[in-house]
Amino acid sequence: MNKGILIVVSAPSGCGKGTILAEILKDERFYYSVSATTRAARPGEIDGINYHFLKKDQFEELIREDGVLEYAEYCGNYYGTPKEKVFEKINEGRNVILEIEVQGAMQIKEKYPEAVFVFVAPPSVSELKNRLEKRGTETAEVIARRVSEAAQEISYADRYDYVVVNAELDEAIADFKAVVRAEELKSENSRKIIDEVLKNA
Ligand code: 5GP
Repeated sequence: MNKGILIVVSAPSGCGKGTILAEILKDERFYYSVSATTRAARPGEIDGINYHFLKKDQFEELIREDGVLEYAEYCGNYYGTPKEKVFEKINEGRNVILEIEVQGAMQIKEKYPEAVFVFVAPPSVSELKNRLEKRGTETAEVIARRVSEAAQEISYADRYDYVVVNAELDEAIADFKAVVRAEELKSENSRKIIDEVLKNA
C-alpha cells in the first residue's frame, strides 16, 4: 500500500482555511490531526474534535514527554501537534493534514522535509480584517493582534511549496485538490500504480 502524504497547511486565521479543509476532509483519504492548545474553546468548539484543550501545565508535560511533533506559542497560547496518530495514519495510506502556524510548519520542514507545505492566503490583509470582524468571535484588540500577526505570517509564504489564494472559495478548494492530486501522482508516491502497470509485462 502507498503511504499517505503529510500535508502542512498554514494560513492566518480568517482566511477561510477551515472551510476549505472541511470540504477536503469529506474525502475519507484525508485525516485531520487534532492539535493540542492552551487557548480557551470558542463557542461551539468541542474538546477532542476541534482541539485537545489543555491547561498550561498539561501542555508543558506533553512537551517534556516528547509527545509533540512540533509546538509554538501563538498570541499568548501554546499550540502543538500530538505525535500519536500522525504516522499511524500515514502508514495506513491516509493523507494527514496538519493545520498549523508558520513557526510549527518550519519545525516540521526541518524534521520531515518530505511533507508538502501549502500556504492559504487571503486576497488582501484588509479583506482578512473584514472577515475576522464579520466572524465576531474575537474582541477588537484580539482582531488587531491577529491582523498584525497575519501580515507577518504572509511574509513566510514563499517558504511553502504552494500558495492558494482564497478569493473565491470554490476556486481555492479546486486549487487545493489540484495540489494534493499532483503530489499523489509524483512517481515516488505512485509505487502501487507503477506495480499495477507493470503486472503482466
Ligand atoms: P486558532 O486559535 O485561530 O484556532 O489558531 C491560531 C493559530 O494556531 C492558527 O494559525 C492555527 O493554524 C495554529 N495552530 C493550530 N494548531 C496548531 C498546532 O498544533 N501547532 C502549531 N504550531 N500551530 C497550530
